[in-house]
Amino acid sequence: MSFSNKCRETADACRFCWMCRHICPVGNTTGQERNTARARALSLSLVGRGAAELKGDLVQNVYECALCRACTEDCKTGWDPVLFTREARREAVLAGEAPEAVRLLLETYAKTGHIYGAEPRNKAFSDAQKRHAAKTDTLFYLGSDARHFAKDKALGAIALLERAKVSFTVLEKEPESGRQLSFLCGDTKETRDAMQAAANLYASYKTVVFYEPEDARAAKQDAPELGITAKAKLTAFPAYLETLIGKKLKVKKGKNVYTFQDPAALARALEDVSSARAVLSACGELKEMLLSGKETVLAGDLILDRYLHETVLGMAKRRWDEAVNMGVKTLVTADTAEYLALSATKPKGVRVITLEEAVAECL
Ligand code: SF4
Ligand code: SF4
Repeated sequence: MSFSNKCRETADACRFCWMCRHICPVGNTTGQERNTARARALSLSLVGRGAAELKGDLVQNVYECALCRACTEDCKTGWDPVLFTREARREAVLAGEAPEAVRLLLETYAKTGHIYGAEPRNKAFSDAQKRHAAKTDTLFYLGSDARHFAKDKALGAIALLERAKVSFTVLEKEPESGRQLSFLCGDTKETRDAMQAAANLYASYKTVVFYEPEDARAAKQDAPELGITAKAKLTAFPAYLETLIGKKLKVKKGKNVYTFQDPAALARALEDVSSARAVLSACGELKEMLLSGKETVLAGDLILDRYLHETVLGMAKRRWDEAVNMGVKTLVTADTAEYLALSATKPKGVRVITLEEAVAECL
């Protein structure tokens, strides 16, 4: 086991001040102190000093984190608690100590190139892909989450771009962005290889539009941190959509009141809290709920969902409680994982729609 000095320093820097306790979506859902950056700092600090072993329940706990970086925003030390969590995951995987559920996901990745396994077939999606198979300047990278679990949403986004008459390419098969291995293993050779393969693909386009914020983060933040860059304009879907509104997409402002659920990767890592709001303001009235923008609370994650399904649903339910208390009627998402978890837990009298659906209903 070999934690870097920075990892040890970061875990040791924790003041155990509890200031990250109230903002952790996992900890708030389970109600367990173990699910906080503070508890992880304590246990990994012991591991770094050789006073505890990185195995068993301690490793399980390392995986009970969505890497949403809410604690990073709030940590009073100015250090990044996610850093030691990711490094502990890498060391656990390399030492063969990853939990069984994680091992199975990695085995599936090794066989299929995705932790979710083979991509399900869908005729409407195949037809859309064939319409956009030709090479253009713009790659619309849909990502594993939508392609495996929400092809209808991906089709809605494709339909909107078709309505805007922009030319773009959709690949029959996409290499995974590197986000899945980064989440499960941190910085390993396999993660770098996946990100490099994806970057090589991006580099053959002038622009790459990422439907999923987590894939955009992998390409725009995580890969460059590993020295992997692509000579292409990399943009998340909400920012791309904003450039079309009022030009290629003539929306009519209606009476709908929308509230945006900021994806953590978009708001915190990519620091984009304005694009989706500009889009929604053109469509109707925008109403904010508490803990929005960079302070957003994660409402879903499809990797975490593979082994902590009930916790992920609990996170979404808590987000609904916050939204309903603020009188929210239409919650708008820009992340497939959040859309699915919020749909599965939706209370009566409210609705959840995607950003492109909000635009489509105002055309
Ligand atoms: S990254 Fe998110 S889920 Fe993980 S400890 Fe921090 S706030 Fe909790
Ligand atoms: S806010 Fe930072 S210093 Fe305070 S307990 Fe959390 S991780 Fe430790």
